[in-house]
Amino acid sequence: MSARPDVPAELRRRVLVEAGHRCAIPTCRQIPVDVHHIREWSKVKRHDFDNLIALCPTCHRRCKDKDIDGLAVRQYKLNLGLLNSRYSEFERRILELYGRRVVDGTHTALITLPKHGDLFVLHLVQDGLLTDVGAFEYDHHIELRLTPHGLDYVRKLVGAEPVDIEAEPVAIELDEPQYPDDDFEDRLAGERQAVIDLCRWFFSRYEDPAQGVPYDGGEGSYQYTCGGPYDAEEVLRDAFGDTVSDADFDRATKIIANYSTDWVEIGLY
Ligand SMILES: [Zn+2]
Repeated sequence: MSARPDVPAELRRRVLVEAGHRCAIPTCRQIPVDVHHIREWSKVKRHDFDNLIALCPTCHRRCKDKDIDGLAVRQYKLNLGLLNSRYSEFERRILELYGRRVVDGTHTALITLPKHGDLFVLHLVQDGLLTDVGAFEYDHHIELRLTPHGLDYVRKLVGAEPVDIEAEPVAIELDEPQYPDDDFEDRLAGERQAVIDLCRWFFSRYEDPAQGVPYDGGEGSYQYTCGGPYDAEEVLRDAFGDTVSDADFDRATKIIANYSTDWVEIGLY
């Protein structure tokens, strides 16, 4: 029986740092963690960085029981390396948060950051994984949401699939709402500023289901699988509560109703 030497302290430290001293399984991220051999020690008989990963006792057990297979663990390790080389810790935490949201189905939720907080998520935005849904003049914050590309990326992280690190950069229009038609600006002419802001805010976040929600001709209805349909007035009142008058809500809702009565979040079908 050959004695197994301890993992050298420096190597152990690198492995723990790589995973942020948390379990490397993206949907787990628990503490405490221990260093685990991806290919069993009895087969490799050595401690190599590439074969070591930080796991919590539960995931460690699941790996030993083959409940999480070795290939998946290897891919988690590779993804971890790519994420570390490309994104800040803050950005990785956002991906981690969305990893959990994807699992529990709340990935359409927005993230709110202080004004100029987009600097902290610059690379996620540049890679087209997150998008700023447009600042609103009355607030000193910005809101971001996962793009369809971001959703695909997070699903791959969670599912232990290779993430394509050369993510296709997406041209992001940070401030321009997606106007529903060319006459939109004309419609707003002469309206109160609060009404214009409400409409712009709305159209930077919501669009007509006809833009992409699957339509079932048999049932004669849209198939909403990613949330919705939303009612414009409810959305506006939820977001702005007491800060806007009833008259302005009514006016904005009327303008928006020229385009559709049901709405979905942009790009989420
Ligand atoms: Zn774990």
